[in-house]
Amino acid sequence: MDENLRATCKLRLEKTAKALEKNNMKAFVADNCEEACEIVRGLLKEGEQITCGGSMTLKECGITDIMSSGKYNFLDRAKAGSPEEVAKIYRDAFFCDTFLSSSNAITERGELYNVDGNCNRVAAITFGPKQVIIVAGRNKIVPDLDGAIDYVKRVSAPANAKRLSLDTPCAKLGECAGVNIDNMCSGCNSDKRICCGYVVTGYQRDPERIKVILVNEELGY
Ligand code: SF4
Repeated sequence: MDENLRATCKLRLEKTAKALEKNNMKAFVADNCEEACEIVRGLLKEGEQITCGGSMTLKECGITDIMSSGKYNFLDRAKAGSPEEVAKIYRDAFFCDTFLSSSNAITERGELYNVDGNCNRVAAITFGPKQVIIVAGRNKIVPDLDGAIDYVKRVSAPANAKRLSLDTPCAKLGECAGVNIDNMCSGCNSDKRICCGYVVTGYQRDPERIKVILVNEELGY
């Protein structure tokens, strides 16, 4: 990427980080994935119990490798042997020391916006784990909540439906069936629908719980 464009993107990340701090979330700006990984290692304690939400960002950034390194008690649902074991990990997530995830979108006003099908991810971000670490690439930054709603309908949800090989309208159309309806929850009636819980994370009472690492790279969707 052109250095001037990269510097401009960094300014946008720094502006967003300030807004997140105003909302009582700790915010970090990383120039690249290596820096983001260093920040994550610094926030985790060896031996603590951790788990995560499904995320391409965590994988692309190298965070999944940190979680699987053996230094932590990682509740890894990829290693679960049955749907019952997966469901147990979803519930055990509430008692973890740290929950790691990306965010579908982050507004320049300092809000996290997440849309979930199972809702295990939005539930754990909202309540339960002592610490929540969010890692997000610059492509997730949007001006405001309207931008966040639009981004999820046009990018996140269709791409995730494709990734998960789900037979939803967005996987065929490349955008949500309800993208042009002026309603956050407009969408399809598919039994595979991945947009069921819509959560905005705003001002936090506990300034130590949610940490957001904004990475000046394109990560996930
Ligand atoms: S509501 Fe349905 S069509 Fe719209 S993005 Fe979600 S899964 Fe896709």
